[in-house]
Amino acid sequence: MRCGWGRDIIADVNGNTSERMLARLRAGETRALARAISLVEDGGAGSAELVAACRLSGRRGLRIGVTGPPGAGKSTLVDQMARWVRGQGQTVGVIAVDPSSPYTGGALLGDRIRMQGFEGDAGVYIRSMASRGRMGGLARGVEEVCTVMEAAGRQTILIETVGVGQDEVDVVAVADVTVLVLVPGMGDEVQSMKAGVMEVADVFVVNKGDREGAERLEAEVRAMQGLGASEADSVPVVRTVATTGEGVGELMGSVLEVAAREQKGVGRELRGLAEAGLRLDHLGVAVRSIAAARGFYELLGMSVGAEETVEHEQVRTAMLPLGESRIELLEATAEDSVIGRFVAKRGEGLHHIAVKVDGVDAMFERLKGEGVRLASDAVRVGAGGHRYFFVHPASTGGVLVEIVGGGSE
Ligand code: ZN
Repeated sequence: MRCGWGRDIIADVNGNTSERMLARLRAGETRALARAISLVEDGGAGSAELVAACRLSGRRGLRIGVTGPPGAGKSTLVDQMARWVRGQGQTVGVIAVDPSSPYTGGALLGDRIRMQGFEGDAGVYIRSMASRGRMGGLARGVEEVCTVMEAAGRQTILIETVGVGQDEVDVVAVADVTVLVLVPGMGDEVQSMKAGVMEVADVFVVNKGDREGAERLEAEVRAMQGLGASEADSVPVVRTVATTGEGVGELMGSVLEVAAREQKGVGRELRGLAEAGLRLDHLGVAVRSIAAARGFYELLGMSVGAEETVEHEQVRTAMLPLGESRIELLEATAEDSVIGRFVAKRGEGLHHIAVKVDGVDAMFERLKGEGVRLASDAVRVGAGGHRYFFVHPASTGGVLVEIVGGGSE
């Protein structure tokens, strides 16, 4: 029974259509990117698998949310930001989000017009998203499209919203850094936005900064940050003129500063961990006899690699390479050992799943901190110097999970 389950896991990881699509994305095929985003937007068969495969690709870009009231010049500003990023030699994905629009997909007239500034530059990819028929909310859809773009190698993702309602706030929450764009002459609007929207901003922009009232608006925004805010806590305020590109370099400097600061925070570091560098390392199968069990795998065409005895665990292991992962056959060398007791109690079968992570110590602390039941009291060092710990089946849905450190650790 348990073996069949293990086989399903392998089938998911190897050779399915998501993997083929991912390979095309990784190769940088723009048409594959367009297709993949459409698939994810429609949420049809295979879309969840594709998103999962993209997450496992371990690629992560910087997500910058740009929001603000209509007429603040966000589109022009986003185009300038994209240009600036391109000037740094990085690739860009732009997601233009309009929660009020019933239209979705990449074929909007607006997209074509916007793309004109970047004709012939495959390093900029612009896509519109709307709300119609979206399962699980627009924000989740945007997050998934970000993930696909990142798997396709986009290093910076600009997420632009049309307005500043609750939907837009939810959408920019997907971003690592959020830019709130304001313009002089908004009058009471700034006051009315105070409540929810002002808090999401990591960087304030006073756009159309050459207009009358820019100075006053900037002063108002600074005043609004409250008496308690120290110099270090205060959110940067940058003045731009999007139509000429003035101030865009300063804006991006502030954005990158915030990103760097947040990256130092544990939360960001762990979030990156959860989304990057995870892969199936091996499946551990407890058997009575390696000699008896290996025949089947050899019939499959797999070859048995190193066979070795780990004395302190009283177990003999045989590794069978399988793609980028392995099957590990485990045979007890003593009845009163972990594997010996497992086989006596439950019979032969899947014993554990080993997941490789970059940052095994951080993962240990994270799981411990979240109250996950661990089966190891510390990160241990195993054969060949690899570092690992076990998570108890009570916390994983019934299977022992081994967390193994990445290659560089
Ligand atoms: Zn193992």
